[in-house]
Amino acid sequence: HAKPSPDVLADIVTKAHAKFKGVKEGANADYIPILTEVPSDLFGIVIITRDGKVYQAGDTDYSFSIQSVSKPFNAALVMQEQGAEALQEKIGVEPTGLPFNSKLALEIMPARSVNPLVNAGAIASVSMVDAKDEAQRWDKVRSNINDFAGAELTLLDKVYTSEYETSWSNRGIANLLFNYGRLYSEPEEALRVYTKMCSLGVNTEQLAMMGATLANHGVNPKTGKRVLDAEHVSKLLAVMLTAGFYDESGIWSYTAGLPAKTGVGGGIVAVVPGEMAIAAFSPRLNKAGNSIRAMKAINYISKELHLNIFEGV
Ligand code: GLU
Repeated sequence: HAKPSPDVLADIVTKAHAKFKGVKEGANADYIPILTEVPSDLFGIVIITRDGKVYQAGDTDYSFSIQSVSKPFNAALVMQEQGAEALQEKIGVEPTGLPFNSKLALEIMPARSVNPLVNAGAIASVSMVDAKDEAQRWDKVRSNINDFAGAELTLLDKVYTSEYETSWSNRGIANLLFNYGRLYSEPEEALRVYTKMCSLGVNTEQLAMMGATLANHGVNPKTGKRVLDAEHVSKLLAVMLTAGFYDESGIWSYTAGLPAKTGVGGGIVAVVPGEMAIAAFSPRLNKAGNSIRAMKAINYISKELHLNIFEGV
């Protein structure tokens, strides 16, 4: 594809927003009780190019919980600390083809291998962060995500409490992992830090900056800080392409052709490698836990601008 001009980018976010603004399908996540209180009509879209130019439309400064969109960025921290092979061996990189909170995946995947973008692998990636205690673990997890965002994200306490108090499923996953020798800290510590990570508040622009850092080969375009080595970026994007949408990862890659990650808070970030990131936020989700309008908006932008990474190669 031709490199889109600033005018084209400004125009496409506005068009995507107008086109899908009226879509009312789906519902806020409700298994984390407080997420039902997020106004369902919010809708924001942001593109940030690798040189840090921002194009936006809609509710782009509303802070929502980052949830699973945090997962690739914490996997990045583990790669940066311990190398890509450690991630591959101690967690796995195979798509599960199963829902995000699957326990079955832990039983049926070869050697308990999952990937860092589903709950089991993400809880394991939090447990792998090299830390002397829980406070340091949380501090490292949070600072790394701040570095990707180029901003200080705040913990949404109410989301954390609401999720932690109802975390029976994730607690089950953490304990199963520990039982199989696939968790690398005490289970409840990993669960708490994981849940805090998911409860960080992020707005659509900050989310796009996180993606733009990956598009810019691991250097944050706003702060100039290298957050991830370039050799790890390509591996991380490969995992995002194959597992970023849980059990809809296949159809997402088939239609949009872009590495991306979704979260039940309604956020999605997609990366056009070497060029830009597209982030979108809308709280109403489909059955797989993916934001319907965010998905439609990014898919539309990808098609209109021919951003599919396999197109025309
Ligand atoms: N914190 C959520 C959970 O563990 C994240 C799920 C998601 O965004 O997919 O259930």
